[in-house]
Amino acid sequence: PLDFLLVLAGGMTAGGCIGLWHARLYGESRSWRQKLQRALDNNRLTVHYQPIIRLSDSTLCGAEALVRLVDFDGTLIPPDQFIPAAEASGVVEQITRRVVKRAFSDMGPRLSADRDFYLSINVSSDDILNRDFLGFLDNETKARGVSPGQVALELTERSTASPERLTRAMEEFSRNGYQFLIDDFGTGYSSLSYIARMPISGIKIDRMFTQALDQPSVGAVIVSKVCELAAALKVTLICEGVETKAQATILANIYPDICAQGFLIGRPMPVERFSRTFPVASRFRWHQDGAA
Ligand code: C2E
Ligand code: MG
Ligand code: MG
Ligand code: MG
Repeated sequence: PLDFLLVLAGGMTAGGCIGLWHARLYGESRSWRQKLQRALDNNRLTVHYQPIIRLSDSTLCGAEALVRLVDFDGTLIPPDQFIPAAEASGVVEQITRRVVKRAFSDMGPRLSADRDFYLSINVSSDDILNRDFLGFLDNETKARGVSPGQVALELTERSTASPERLTRAMEEFSRNGYQFLIDDFGTGYSSLSYIARMPISGIKIDRMFTQALDQPSVGAVIVSKVCELAAALKVTLICEGVETKAQATILANIYPDICAQGFLIGRPMPVERFSRTFPVASRFRWHQDGAA
């Protein structure tokens, strides 16, 4: 009987905890949904751009659009603090559309002036699985004179969607000319066989591996293997989170075609600063302090 009572008590405690936990999660996601909806209604999302350069010749190959939430006091809330909630509460598709509109309006002229330059946009698998999103993108590219081939959609490996469904949906975007990059490569659990079948044009190596380069014997081996994979799949390779000249040098030696993104080259910045710091046809100057 004592055992029974203990089990009963334990069960009640656990039940209580789960109830409480559930209420908290639900409450939080509901309040985030309201907060994000208000931010959308009041136009309080802004987009910064981070440069991506080719290490072999220091030319700019693209920029990644990164969303920020402008708080009431003007401080910028980073996306890691609200994108997960946006995905959980279904607001993320509205955010993606807002980012696309803003990024095309900011970067449209640049994309037309420089046909080798691409604009990278982070999307959720929900965006790709939603058939309307392709029509939306087609309308926006037409309206802004943006070529779909200069638009790269970044998808992380962490998607919970079925890879078959996702691959089929990606193929439709790909047929209309859009590029796909696998973001944060190496941190997810996607099977390599799917990556091989997906219509992707590039892989972004997560900054965890860039940091591993600081112990070259370990990090360089991992990065070289990913480079071999990229070469075999005939896709481009971008290394994220490059913070030091030493890391950039190791990367350029491992794989001449590699592109790099990170604080060494430039932090995410408003479009005006981006255009000033990286004018069309300019090269990244290595003597300048990377922390732009
Ligand atoms: P991400 O797509 O992997 O973007 C790169 C993140 O790494 C950015 O953080 C960038 O500021 C940061 N970063 C770049 N270089 C360095 C470096 O050298 N060192 C370090 N420590 N960090 C660096 P951010 O802007 O805070 O964005 C975080 C994540 O939020 C993004 O990771 C992306 O997954 C998500 N995100 C950003 N914008 C959007 C968006 O418009 N839509 C969606 N769905 N997700 C977004
Ligand atoms: Mg990204
Ligand atoms: Mg990334
Ligand atoms: Mg990331």
